[in-house]
Parts: sequence; C-alpha cells; structure tokens
Amino acid sequence: MKTKLLHKPLIFGLLILVFSCTAVSTNDTNISKNSSNENTEIFEENPHFVKPTIDFINEDSSSQGHKIYHRLVTNPTAYIQQHAQEVAEMIYTPKEIIDGEIQPIKKITYTLKRYDGISEKYGAPPAIGIKFSTKHIEKTFESSHNDDSIYFEIKGVLYHEIVHGYQYEPKNAGVYKKGDDFFGFIEGLADYVRIEKGYHKRKIKLGGHWNDGYTTSGYFIKYLKDTYDPDFARKLNRSCILLENWDWTSALQLVLESDKTIDEHWEDYQNYIKENKTV
Ligand SMILES: [Zn+2]
Repeated sequence: MKTKLLHKPLIFGLLILVFSCTAVSTNDTNISKNSSNENTEIFEENPHFVKPTIDFINEDSSSQGHKIYHRLVTNPTAYIQQHAQEVAEMIYTPKEIIDGEIQPIKKITYTLKRYDGISEKYGAPPAIGIKFSTKHIEKTFESSHNDDSIYFEIKGVLYHEIVHGYQYEPKNAGVYKKGDDFFGFIEGLADYVRIEKGYHKRKIKLGGHWNDGYTTSGYFIKYLKDTYDPDFARKLNRSCILLENWDWTSALQLVLESDKTIDEHWEDYQNYIKENKTV
C-alpha cells in the first residue's frame, strides 16, 4: 500500500499568518517540509478501491476564491480521489469494497464556480458532479483571514458532497424534503461522515427531529454508531438496498437487531445529550 502526503500541515501556515497578517502560500503538495508530523495527514491508498477519474473544471479562474483554493489544494485530482476513498471506507465495509459492492462511481466532475450557494452534488453513478462556490471560499476567507479555517471548510464540504455520490438512496422513503425519511437519511449520513472526520464546526445539540437532516441527523447516526456498533453507519447505508420500503424504525430494527422504534431511540438520544451535558 502506498502512503502519500497530499497536502501540508496547516499549523505551519497559521504560524506564518500570525507574523505576516497576510495570506501566504503555505502548501506544497506531496512533500511535507515541516519537521513536526503532528498535523500531517497520512493517507494510505486502498488497492481494492477503484479510484474515480476526476475532471476538474475551473469556471472562475481570475477570482480570489480560485487562488485560495489552489493555494490550499495544489493537486485537486489526487485530493478528490483521496476523499472519495475515505468516504467509501466510512460507509462501506472492507469486504464490500473488496467485492466491489459499492456505488460504481467512475467519474467525478468537480467544478469551481461563482454562485451564491456553497456546494452541491448532481448526477448519479457512474458519473457525478460537484460544484463548489468560489464566492463561498472568499466569504470564508473574509470572515476568518485564516487558511486553516478555509481549508477546514473545503475539506468538510468535500466529504459531505462525496457521501452523496457514494451513499445508497432509501426506497419508498418519501422525497428530498425536510421531515421525510429520505431527506433525514441522505443529509444525515453526509454530515455524519463530516462530523466523524472532525471537519464540522457545529456541535451536538438537544432537540430537533431525526429527519431534520444535516448535523441533527448526523450526530444521531454518530450516537447510534458509538452506542451500538462501529459498523452502524455502513449497515445503515446497506439497509437501503435490503429494505423495499425504507423507514427509520425498520432500518434500525434490521441493523441493530432490536425491537426499539425510532421514537424510542430518539428519546434515548435526547437523554444521552442531557446526561452528557453536551448541549
Ligand atoms: Zn447534502
């Protein structure tokens, strides 16, 4: 297995920024010049994972957002492929990856684009696309003037959108609308991966509903995984192809082999948050 360093540690960049108060180029892909490995990300290629080809398109090349992105991600193709593998490993078991029983994504078109949103995934396997807003990069820069913050956002958003490419879709579970099981699962699993990887700023919070999606559902999935089964999220993803009519209670009963309903699990989860004072 090859080990690659795809980007430099960011502590180094932060130290430079403290002294110069300007955004300076701190990234040099593939080689870490920092003597400390504390913040260095080591990535091991999985020989069983079929890397998608990456078509990187820059539609806003004269912008500050584009410059910032490339300063922090100097090899987008390798970077996106790395995150694709990491996501696959978060929502599929090693055996599923070896057996090729995962969403067959052959190509990811990644576009830096100037628009008012943040990021979005479109298309379906075998070819998906992800748009990422250069305006959003600039806004993040304006509010932080800190490469670490921008990098944190680029990486967190990328995890989230790639999950949308690799995750299964629950059948007969409603539509993509807050409050529907479909929405809760789709947006919850995407934020679960981002949370587990440590690239989400939002904290766990009391209240809400399991079909609110995003962090509300994401932290709930993390709680179920931490409480019951390290493979919970992988099994939950797989439940989408095992259940003809997907709903949370059926999926949880299948995955956790228990009789509890979604309401009971949610109540347990709310009590867990209260007890742990993590609100
Ligand atoms: Zn999403």
